[in-house]
Amino acid sequence: MPRSCTVAVGCYVLPLGVLFAYTCPVSPASATKATVLIIEDEAQIRRLLRLCLERDGYQVVEAATGDEGIGEAVRCRPEAVLLDLGLPDMDGLSVLKRLREWTQAPILVVSVRGHEDDKITALDNGANDYITKPFSTGELLARLRVSRRTAQAPAVNTSFSSGPLKVDLATRTVKVKGRQVRLTAQEYALLVLFVQHAGKVLTHGFLLRQIWGSDAQENIGHLRVYMKYLRQKIELNPADPELLITEPGVGYRLTVRD
Ligand code: CA
Repeated sequence: MPRSCTVAVGCYVLPLGVLFAYTCPVSPASATKATVLIIEDEAQIRRLLRLCLERDGYQVVEAATGDEGIGEAVRCRPEAVLLDLGLPDMDGLSVLKRLREWTQAPILVVSVRGHEDDKITALDNGANDYITKPFSTGELLARLRVSRRTAQAPAVNTSFSSGPLKVDLATRTVKVKGRQVRLTAQEYALLVLFVQHAGKVLTHGFLLRQIWGSDAQENIGHLRVYMKYLRQKIELNPADPELLITEPGVGYRLTVRD
C-alpha cells in the first residue's frame, strides 16, 4: 500500500509547521531524489503537497505564481510538475503551454475546475493527468507514479502488459490471460494509442483525430461503438471494465497494473 496522507485538501486540516524555504536540490543526499515542482498559490495546499511528497521520497520545489513556476522549472529541471490552474498572475494553461515548449516531464494539473471542458483543454495542451480538488493524496501520489513511469518508458518499448492484457507492438499480437485475441485494424489502432499513452487520459477529440482524422473529431458515438468492440475483446468483464476506464465526458484511460 502506498503511504498517503489521510486528509483531503478540501478539509484544510493541516499540521502546523514552519515555513519552508524552497531551494533547488544541492546536497549529495538529495541528488538521487526525484524533484517535483509544485506551482500553486495557496500556501496550505503547497504545504500539504510538500509533506506528502517528501514522505514519499521526493525532493520538492515550490512556486506561488505562474511566472515563478516557469522560472523554477527552468532552473531546477523537475522530474514532474503539479500545476494549479487558478494562479494570481497568469492562467495555469499558459504555464502548461510554456512548459510544454521545452519539457516532456509529466505535468499533472491539480485544480478546483472540475468542468469537462477544462480537463479536455488541459489534456489536449499536454497535461499528463488532471486531478480535481479536493482529492485524496494517496490517489494523487499513485497518479504521479504512473505518470512518471510511463514518461520514463522508452519510446521503442515494444511489449506492454497490464493485468491480463499483453500487447506486443512488434509482432502485433494481443493476448488476454495468455489467449490471443483478434482485433480489426481500427480496434488495433485504437489499442496502440492507449498503449503508447498508458495511464494517461486520452480525450474523445484526440482519439477521433488520431484514428479517423480531423473531420471525425465530433463523432463521439462512433468512438463509443469501437470502444465497446474493443472492451468485448480485451476486458474480462466488458460490462465492468478494468483496463479501459471511462473518464465521463472527457475520454478514456488505459490503466497500468502489475
Ligand atoms: Ca489557485
